[in-house]
Formats: sequence, C-alpha cells, structure tokens
Amino acid sequence: MKVSIKPYSLEFKHPFGVSSNIRHNTISVFLKLEAGAYTGFGEACIPEYLGETLSDTLAFLEAAGKLLENADQLFDLTQTINAVDSLSEKNNAGKAAVDIALHDLKGKILNMPFYEMAGIGKSEPMTTSFTIGLDKESKLEQKIIEASDFSVLKIKAGTADDLRLIRLIRKFTSKPLYVDVNQGWRDRHHVINMISRMKEEGVILIEQPMPVKMQEEMEWVKERSSLPLIADESIKRLPDLDKVAEGFTGINIKLMKCTGLAEAMKMIAAAREKNMKILLGCMAESTCATAAMAQLMKLADYIDLDAPNLYKNDPFEGLTYRNGKVILNDQPGIGVKMRSDIFL
Ligand code: MG
Repeated sequence: MKVSIKPYSLEFKHPFGVSSNIRHNTISVFLKLEAGAYTGFGEACIPEYLGETLSDTLAFLEAAGKLLENADQLFDLTQTINAVDSLSEKNNAGKAAVDIALHDLKGKILNMPFYEMAGIGKSEPMTTSFTIGLDKESKLEQKIIEASDFSVLKIKAGTADDLRLIRLIRKFTSKPLYVDVNQGWRDRHHVINMISRMKEEGVILIEQPMPVKMQEEMEWVKERSSLPLIADESIKRLPDLDKVAEGFTGINIKLMKCTGLAEAMKMIAAAREKNMKILLGCMAESTCATAAMAQLMKLADYIDLDAPNLYKNDPFEGLTYRNGKVILNDQPGIGVKMRSDIFL
C-alpha cells in the first residue's frame, strides 16, 4: 500500500475569536492510501485544546504509514486498526485519519458506501445544528441571518451572561437551540436553574455543563434536569462511557476524539445498551472527516456536522447541505472526492 501525508491549511470564510486571538485558518493533515487502482482518504484535524500538535500528528502518521505499507491484512481492518492504535497512547486524531482512510479504501475496493459495508443502511437527510460563535450584538444578528439555511442553532455559552445571550438571540430567531456550555458552570444549583430557564427559551439540549472533574455534581444534576445532558469533554473513547453514563443522558462522539469509525460504532452500541442519546459531532474538519462521520447518521439522535460550511478552500466534496439537512450520496467508501490534487 502506498501512503501519502499532506498538511493543509483550511481557510475560514469568516475569521472568528476575540480581538487578541482571531483565527483565520485551521490545519488538517490529510492521508491518502493507494492499493492498486483504489484510493482511500482520511483526515486528522489538530484540535490544540486536546493537546495534539501538528508535529506529533505528522510523526504518528509517518509511523503508522510504515506499518500500513507492509500491511497485508487490508480485509482484516480490525487487526490493522488495533495495530495502529497500539503505536501510541494518544494521537487520537492521527488514528482517526488512518481509520477513515482504511474504511474509505475498503469501501472503494468493495464498491460499497461505508454505511452499507457496516450494515447500518443509508440515513434519510438529517437536520444538523449550526454553531453561532459568541459575538457582539450587531454581529450576532448578522451571523443568525447567515445561518438562515439551518433550522437548529448551537450556541456556545458558559459565561455569566448566558441568559442575556439567549434572550438576545431570541430577538432574532425562534429556532430550537442547542447550548454548549463547554464546562463553564460550576455550581449545581445554578446549572439546574439555568436549564429550566433555558428550556423556557426553547433550548432543547445542553452539552457539557460542568467541568470534567465535577462528575459527582453531574450525577446530582442529571436526576433533576428537564433537558438532555450530552457529555463532550467528559468522553473521548469507549472506556470513558461507564463513568459518564452516571452523569449524562447522552454522548457527543467525534472521530478526532474517539480514533475513528470503528470505535465510534462500538461506542454507539454500548451507549444504546445504557439507553443513552447519541449526538454525532465534529471539530474544525473538512468534508473528508465530516462525511466519514455522516455515514453513521442513521444511528444518531442528533447531528452537529456543520464544519464543511466554514471554509473557503475545502479540498473535498461529497456531502450536500440543503434546508439545514445533511444529505448522503451513494458513492463508495466515505463518499468523497478530492476537488483538486492536494498531494502533488
Ligand atoms: Mg462541545
């Protein structure tokens, strides 16, 4: 198998952040695996806050690439994916790139979409949330207008001004809202109070209200919450599930956290055994990794797969967004095509 690795700068249509730290771009590392006439693509996005760096990711993919070049067990993906996993304790994004590319390649060889190969089936078009970043009042209105195609909005909260923010948003839209607190609330009584006030304002789910280490407080909150509580920072991989099941009603699965489609499917099966809700999320990744995750839509309650809408120069295509819904195609593997060859 031939392995190619390419770092690439995804340029945002709208730079975002606070004035001291405005982000204009984000780096992804793309992986190309070639076997005979077939090509599989994968992507690692580098979420700095997860402690993964570009140089780490490149070094990991070089090592994984050596293993893949000699891999003869393409059709025993489990064995290959386990071997790649055991190369390192971390590098979850790099592992995801390998997992995505292997599944894409296998799907191309079998001429089957991943959802068919995995026995999931093709999902109907599914409504995704679209994230509105924190901003000044004037810009907030503009952002909500620009999100007019989307029927559910996701709001980043976790400041002292959360209710004011929601009420401000309510001046401009009555769409259902997901609120991602990003660990921002510290007092369990405050959490319960905020949840009931937010429910009155049309919020339909709350993501990661409290810090990861406040698991016991979350167990107290869960018993009293009137809205679904979705774990994000509290869960990366399958072994985290037992603990978060006590404090949350659902989990946000992201390929860059969980190492790829193989583990995501195991997490979904285990979470369903516990009657938990499934949200499929993404990081600042291109159509490549997002389309891989979208293959699992039929297994999800909620999806938050908006990332491909953020860039001027997404090197892949294959996911369609229409009326706020994500639409899968019938192409093999993860269903993407490279727009122009970035590996040259
Ligand atoms: Mg989150």
